[in-house]
Amino acid sequence: MPNTKYIFVTGGVTSSLGKGIISASLAKLLQARGYSVTIQKLDPYINVDPGTLNPYEHGECYVTDDGAETDLDLGHYERFLNIPTSQANNITTGRIYQSVINKERRGDYLGKTVQVIPHITDEIKRRILLLGSKHKFDFVITEIGGTVGDIESLPYIEAVRQLKWELGQYNTLYIHLTLVPYLQASGELKTKPTQHSVKELLENGIQPDILVLRTEHELTPELRKKVALFCNVDHEAVVQSIDVSTIYEVPILMQKEKLDETVLRKMNLEIKEKPKLERWKNFLKRLKNPKHKVKIGLVGKYVELADAYKSINEALIHAGAVNEAEVEICFIHSETLEESGAEEVLKGLDGILVAPGFGDRGIEGKIMAAKYARENNIPFLGICLGLQCAVVEFARNVLNFEKAHSTEMSRKTDYPVIDLMEEQKGITEKGGTMRLGAYPCTITKGTKVFEAYKTQNISERHRHRYEFNNTYFEDFKKAGMIPVGINPETELVEIMELKDHKWYIGVQFHPEYSSTVINPHPLFVSFIKASIS
Ligand code: GLN
Repeated sequence: MPNTKYIFVTGGVTSSLGKGIISASLAKLLQARGYSVTIQKLDPYINVDPGTLNPYEHGECYVTDDGAETDLDLGHYERFLNIPTSQANNITTGRIYQSVINKERRGDYLGKTVQVIPHITDEIKRRILLLGSKHKFDFVITEIGGTVGDIESLPYIEAVRQLKWELGQYNTLYIHLTLVPYLQASGELKTKPTQHSVKELLENGIQPDILVLRTEHELTPELRKKVALFCNVDHEAVVQSIDVSTIYEVPILMQKEKLDETVLRKMNLEIKEKPKLERWKNFLKRLKNPKHKVKIGLVGKYVELADAYKSINEALIHAGAVNEAEVEICFIHSETLEESGAEEVLKGLDGILVAPGFGDRGIEGKIMAAKYARENNIPFLGICLGLQCAVVEFARNVLNFEKAHSTEMSRKTDYPVIDLMEEQKGITEKGGTMRLGAYPCTITKGTKVFEAYKTQNISERHRHRYEFNNTYFEDFKKAGMIPVGINPETELVEIMELKDHKWYIGVQFHPEYSSTVINPHPLFVSFIKASIS
C-alpha cells in the first residue's frame, strides 16, 4: 500500500462509550487482514502527560517501552494488537502547546502572531502524520479524547477536518461513536442524541462516514435506516456496538457488523480474504470455558476505581485464560486491612497481589498482606511498591530490623531497605522524571522466575523513584529472600524471590504493561498457575 490511510474516531453524547475499544477492535480486524496498523490517542487536557494525574482522576497511567507516561487506552492498543506503542501514540494539548511555545521562544515563527489556527492545528496535524510516515503504517487510527462539543476538543476536530482536504477522500475516514439510550418507561431506543451529536460534528465541518452506536439492546433495521437517513450515512455504515461480557469479544462483534469491510470499501481498498483471527478466537474460547476458578486479592489504595489497575486486571484475565481458569479479582483496600486485620480480610484467597502505588496512605495494610502471604504459603506477586512492601516486611519480621522502611514513607528509619535511587537525588520536578520505560534484567537460573520466563535476559518497563538498597543485599540473601533479577548495567535489584515458599515473587518493574492477548505475561501465567494448585 503506497500511502498511509488515516482514520479518525470521535465520540458524542457522553464519555466512556468505549472509543478506545472500538478503535482497538477495528485495528485488530485490519491487522488480521494483513495490514500494519497503529492507534494514536489525542487527549484534550492541558497536562503534558497523565504521569502527574491522580489515578482517581484518570485511571491507570500506562507506560511504554520508550518511557512515555500515557493514557490507559494505549494499554488496550497493545493488548489487542500485540505491537508496542510509544510517546508518539499519545499526545495531549499540554504537549502540543509546549512545543508551539518552545518554537515561538526560539523565534521559529519569524515575528508572526501565534494562534490556535493555524499554529496549534498545524502542530496537531504534524504529529498525526508523523506517526504514519515515520513507521510506514498502512493505517493510523487516531482517537480524539473527550466528546464532540467540548471547548477543548475544537482544535483537534478542526485539525482532522483539514486533513481530509489535504490527504484526499480515500485516505481519510471519520468514525463517530454515539449512544442510543433505552427508555425503560416507553420501552424504546432513542436516536435523537445521535442526531444532535452528528449535527454538532457537521457544524464543525465534519460529515462522519461511519456511525458506531453503543446500545444495550439490539437495534432494529428501521432504527438503523432512520439513523442513516437523518445523519447522511449509508445504511451499511450504521454499526451497532452492543454491550458484551468481555471487551475481547468486541472485534468479533465488529466483524459481524462488517465494520472492517465498510472501512476498506470507503477507503477504496480491495476486500480480499477474511481476517485471520484463529488465535484470538482460541483465547476467547478458553476465556469463556474455564475449568478452574481462582480468587486473587488485589491489594491497593485506589481499588474503588477499577480503571486504576486496568493493566493488572487484564494481565490476570490473560493469564487465567492460558490456565483455563476464571480469575475472580477481589479488590482489597489496604486501609481496610489495617482496620480489620489480615486474617479477616485475606482468608480464603488463592493468591495475593500487592499493587503499585505512591505515598504512605494504606502502606501498613500492604505490608500486612505481604506478611500474611509469606507466613501462610499463599502465592504472592508484589509489583513495584508491592515488592518494596515485601522487602520492608521481611526486614522487619525476619531480619528483625526494627521499624525498617522505605525512605519514601519514613525518611529517618534506621533501616532504609528501600531508598531513593542515586540518579533521583536532587530531582525536584515531578513530571516525567521517574525511572521510566524498559530496562534489561538478568535472571538467576534455577529459580521460579527463570522457570516462568524460560530465559535469563528480559526487558521490562519501570516507573519508580525508589529501589532496593544494596547495602542489605547479603542480609536478605542469607535469610532466604533472594535477589534473583539484577539490572546488568546498574546492579539494581529488579526481582526478589522467597526461598521455601510456594510462589512468592516481587518485581520492581511492571509486568502488567506488556501482557497481551497473544502473549500473556509469563509471570502472571505462572502466578495464576501456582494459585490454582
Ligand atoms: N512509590 C514507589 C517508588 O516510587 C513505587 C512506585 C510504583 O509502585 N510504581 O519507587
